[in-house]
Amino acid sequence: MAGVMDNPMERTAASAAVPFYTPTGNEVALFEHAYRNRLPLLLKGPTGCGKTRFVSHMAARLGRSIHTVSCHDDLTAADLTGRYLLKGGDTVWVDGPLTRAVREGAICYLDEVVEARKDVTVVLHPLTDDRRLLPLERTGELLDAPPEFMLVVSYNPGYQNILKSLKPSTRQRFVAIEFGFPLPDIETAIVTQESGLPRERVAPLVRLGNALRDLKGQDLEEGVSTRLLVYCATLIHSGMKSEEAILAAMIEPLTDDVEVKKALLRVVELTL
Ligand code: ADP
Repeated sequence: MAGVMDNPMERTAASAAVPFYTPTGNEVALFEHAYRNRLPLLLKGPTGCGKTRFVSHMAARLGRSIHTVSCHDDLTAADLTGRYLLKGGDTVWVDGPLTRAVREGAICYLDEVVEARKDVTVVLHPLTDDRRLLPLERTGELLDAPPEFMLVVSYNPGYQNILKSLKPSTRQRFVAIEFGFPLPDIETAIVTQESGLPRERVAPLVRLGNALRDLKGQDLEEGVSTRLLVYCATLIHSGMKSEEAILAAMIEPLTDDVEVKKALLRVVELTL
């Protein structure tokens, strides 16, 4: 049994520097209000549109540590709450990331929460209403979440997987924000800042990204993310030819289908 402490899916960050984040709406104020009023928050939006960066930014602004867990289909409630592990012949209880966040008064961010096993919702429910309790059956503890504790979850409604959408009884426990891709001017500023590539060279990439996004739904499940635009600009800034960087960062990650790829390359020709 893998130790929760060793879980590479969990990243814990101290709240030293405030990570760069450009707001695209009222999300900063909403997060602050939710935090102050002890309300859990749900971030909806496509992959790579800035949800994780936003949570890191807000945690640092509010001076809280953050425990991030990338959820997957094997993730169980015990992975979040903790378990007994054998250490040097002794059996010791090791807190999981959710329990640590509750004990410390930190922010717990469950990325792609719909991927997790169903039993995870059982531990989230008492934490997400006004009780704010985390029962640890195995240790017999009942933890009262301090005011500084906040639960933030995200999911990508775009996958349209009926089996993997959040149940109303769970989603209606959260205040929710919808994230989309930033408007072109803002996205250009973000990609410029993140990649170091001059703004005038980033602008056409963002235009291309938006043209490729228009194909979403017809041939593509997901459009080019801001993350991929940052990758593309980073490769160009590091000396790669634009065409090669575009192929590697904006075409290949999107599809394996030969015909779809041709269609995407046609959009590249027409846009640049
Ligand atoms: P998500 O969690 O939605 O999948 P991320 O937060 O990991 O996406 O964002 C991917 C990358 O895109 C970030 O590492 C950052 O470089 C960039 N990014 C996206 N949106 C923003 C934003 N509003 N401000 C700053 N960087 C952003």
